[in-house]
Amino acid sequence: MRTGPRSSRPDSRRPTDPAFVDLHAHTIFSDGLFTPEQLVVEAQRRGLAAVGVADHDAVGGIERAQAAGRQVGIEVVPAVELSCTVAGVDLHMLGYYIDYEDPDLAAFVKNIRTYRAERGRLMVEKLQELGIKVTMDQVRSLAKDAAIGRPHVAQALIDVGAVPNMEEAFRRYIGYEGPAYVPKKKLSPQEGVDFIKSYGGVAVVAHPGTYGNDDAVYQAIAAGVDGLEVWHPDHNAHNVTRYLEFAQKNNLLTTGGSDCHGGRKQGRIFLGDVRVPYEHLAAVKKLAQERRETKR
Ligand code: AMP
Ligand code: ZN
Ligand code: FE
Ligand code: FE
Repeated sequence: MRTGPRSSRPDSRRPTDPAFVDLHAHTIFSDGLFTPEQLVVEAQRRGLAAVGVADHDAVGGIERAQAAGRQVGIEVVPAVELSCTVAGVDLHMLGYYIDYEDPDLAAFVKNIRTYRAERGRLMVEKLQELGIKVTMDQVRSLAKDAAIGRPHVAQALIDVGAVPNMEEAFRRYIGYEGPAYVPKKKLSPQEGVDFIKSYGGVAVVAHPGTYGNDDAVYQAIAAGVDGLEVWHPDHNAHNVTRYLEFAQKNNLLTTGGSDCHGGRKQGRIFLGDVRVPYEHLAAVKKLAQERRETKR
């Protein structure tokens, strides 16, 4: 189990131990497998004090998660995960405490989702040209109303027997180097940061160690992000040390989370596998509150 600082398993927690939070999870509103309610119940089972609902380009799951959270006594942190294009990479940016009830925000992310559906169709076409019998109807019925993502396309590839698992789907077809990969809508890091901040949110670079290119991270910092996701399942000890240093040098907040997709990745549920002490969330929350107050 890879964990954030001073972590402990839920079953080994003593009353004096700090509360732990997992600030990065997906639901069926993007490419996760849990409903918002299931996610919250799972978070409670795993001994978390709070869980961040951070769907790709979607905020529709937040309200349901918060209602469920109130029932079981788990704090639900509203968030969104946007994709930005910079220095040739697809850089993910988390927006914590964005005003998810704002209709303009909803319209903006809906626009991105519409583009995601179009992109899904383009990927399906490329796969068909490669002789694979996947259809857009199949992908749509897997995604339902969610933000269509490559995991849905990957599942369709598994369902038609073109690949045995997700990893193979990405490796052979829809990974960044794959023949059927289609990039997403191009949002610059500046647009991402501005969008998040204009809706009262706190902008955090998701999994900075996964881009293989710190130029992208530097540019996001230059664009004014507030923090870095230091603890993530795809980060090794070297990444953690490196981005902690980055954060200290640039006076940035530090967050962490499991990026749980509810068992969609390798059939495993990662929720709570990466968790950080509550103080990290407290700092994010404090900044978001200050931002709200200055906007008023
Ligand atoms: P998209 O936003 O549509 O480009 O899809 C990106 C999502 O695909 C990520 O958030 C992961 O959930 C998933 N993903 C990316 N690479 C892989 C991989 N190699 N195996 C399984 N899932 C992956
Ligand atoms: Zn995802
Ligand atoms: Fe991501
Ligand atoms: Fe994610």
